[in-house]
Amino acid sequence: MVNEKAWKDLTEEAAAAGAVLVAVSKTKPVADLEALYALGQRDFGENYVQELVEKAGVLPADIRWHFIGHLQRNKVKHIAPFVHLIHGVDSFGLLLEINRQAAKAGRVIDVLLQLYIAEEESKFGLNETEIVELMSYYEAQRAQLQHVRICGLMGMATATDDTAQIRAEFGKLANVFQYLKDAYFASADYFTVKSMGMSGDYQLALDAGSTLIRVGSLLFGAR
Ligand SMILES: *Cc1c(COP(=O)(O)O)cnc(C)c1O
Repeated sequence: MVNEKAWKDLTEEAAAAGAVLVAVSKTKPVADLEALYALGQRDFGENYVQELVEKAGVLPADIRWHFIGHLQRNKVKHIAPFVHLIHGVDSFGLLLEINRQAAKAGRVIDVLLQLYIAEEESKFGLNETEIVELMSYYEAQRAQLQHVRICGLMGMATATDDTAQIRAEFGKLANVFQYLKDAYFASADYFTVKSMGMSGDYQLALDAGSTLIRVGSLLFGAR
């Protein structure tokens, strides 16, 4: 069951803020994705490789598939031929493997680096120091990394009711984004993406300059 009204409202809110709505459909049946597709939704986000591959195999080819989960290196090959954007790159080794599999597939794959902004222990991602370290490896090997394009940052805020804290965390992502843009991507027109905001905090994320919100439960109901 999808919530059509929520979809319409979110699509309008995102568009008004200049952002894209990614419908996070993990664990939801193909019929639910078809229902949103019929309304006009084209960007879908999935967390699990196997599930993504299965859904992509039976759904229309013009869907833009976002991989938003934790990606294991040995699974990159399964999504490399078709994935639109990989959100959670959190190591240089993973970036290298994406480049390798993209080359095999004859593609350039767009990726986001995952910045750790939450206070929780369980969330994946890199801190600022680790991102700068990754960028120095990237700069040193850029000539060999022609099949990946770093397009921005992805982050998840702490699950809390404290809106001031959430704002601060999204603000931090926006700051690190600007720092990287100035330092490494000043002349790159593709370094534009701030993927932040979920069902509980997407409004705060849009306020903080999100360009891509990832919303699941508001559209598809609780998992
Ligand atoms: C599941 C998930 C979402 C969507 O969460 P909702 O609270 O259901 O909107 C967004 N981003 C990531 C990385 C997720 O794993």
